[in-house]
Amino acid sequence: MVRDREDVVGIDASILMHPDVWVASGHVDSFTDPLAECKECHRRHRSDLLETDACPDCGGELSDPRHFNLMFRTHIGPVEGDDNIVYLRPETAQAMFVDFDNVVNSSRVRIPFGIAQQGKSFRNEITPGNFTFRTREFEQMEMEYFCEPGTDEEWHRYWIDFSSDWFTGLGLRRSKLRVREHQADELPHYSKGSADIEFLFPWGWGELETISNRTDYDLKAHIEKSGKDLSYYDQPNNKRYVPYVVEPAMGADRSALAFLVDAYDEEEVNDDKRVVLRFHPSIAPYQVAILPLSRNPKLTPKAREVHDLVRSRFSTQYDETQSIGRRYRRQDEIGTPLCVTVDFETVESDDAVTIRHRDTMDQVRVPISGLRQALQDQLDG
Ligand code: ATP
Repeated sequence: MVRDREDVVGIDASILMHPDVWVASGHVDSFTDPLAECKECHRRHRSDLLETDACPDCGGELSDPRHFNLMFRTHIGPVEGDDNIVYLRPETAQAMFVDFDNVVNSSRVRIPFGIAQQGKSFRNEITPGNFTFRTREFEQMEMEYFCEPGTDEEWHRYWIDFSSDWFTGLGLRRSKLRVREHQADELPHYSKGSADIEFLFPWGWGELETISNRTDYDLKAHIEKSGKDLSYYDQPNNKRYVPYVVEPAMGADRSALAFLVDAYDEEEVNDDKRVVLRFHPSIAPYQVAILPLSRNPKLTPKAREVHDLVRSRFSTQYDETQSIGRRYRRQDEIGTPLCVTVDFETVESDDAVTIRHRDTMDQVRVPISGLRQALQDQLDG
């Protein structure tokens, strides 16, 4: 969203912001989950996520739900009091609203444009779980796209399609993705329309991203609270308005989990089970592994030389322990798309190496002089 586009700028705002930011946004009053306590085992559960009225741990009767604020609180300064409460941000989004004017005045953006950031958010989740699907500390990637009122629905559709294509462009199967429009009774207070992009996890459909039409709700709320004018002057058309906002809000950890689950594969190869993570090359932790055929004083220096040649350009790993077959499998298991093998022919005759492909296990021989280009072509291919 940021590097490949001219209409979006990135920021890196602080995690602890002025507490009034969260009053204006509505989080202090209404960022809550309904919490029910079991009358028998005293465990607490989020009642809106339960499928029955009984406690999922012991079957006991549950109390009436109480609303519980999800923001973590702490204090500025050494003395704890009601006048120095601050919150760990529960989303990255509000910074883009309070920095709106700053960005308009310091970058050359003109509406329509977006402000994006990626970073940690914190929520005091009652029931974290499903591995990294729901945690109390997680990484979000959010963007606020400011547009002229009246163009918001078109931009909402645009960002839903853009986000779905982003996931499939990085390898998620379309059959495991769906877009679910929110019903009127699920819409958050700030939203005129929201759609979730969901992935079919082993335990069922789960949200990866929500794309919301937040209207002018947030900017107006901050204008009211701060008394600062956050309207925008549209010079070519000589008019002033408070922009509407479309927000794609994505969880980086959840997305990474979906990529992992979807890439995982097991297959039979020569009466043996091969585990392979079929990651798209752009998200594989390592793109290239450099492997001497064996740990041998004739091969190691050359293999190290080859590693030095490619490590500044790709994310790489060097490994010379155990048999070459075991090392190929290890790279398959962590999803490395390409392995480069240095063998005796490399040092004795042809100054060439073998590139082995993770998915097909096919091997091609290429001269070391053309290796960097050959690797790039294979990764792009
Ligand atoms: P949920 O309904 O699952 O609690 P949410 O609708 O409250 O999520 P949003 O406020 O829309 O989530 O946040 C945007 C994205 O941030 C979500 O789509 C999700 O990917 C991610 N996210 C939210 N809460 C968590 C969490 N506790 N752990 C990991 N990721 C999260």
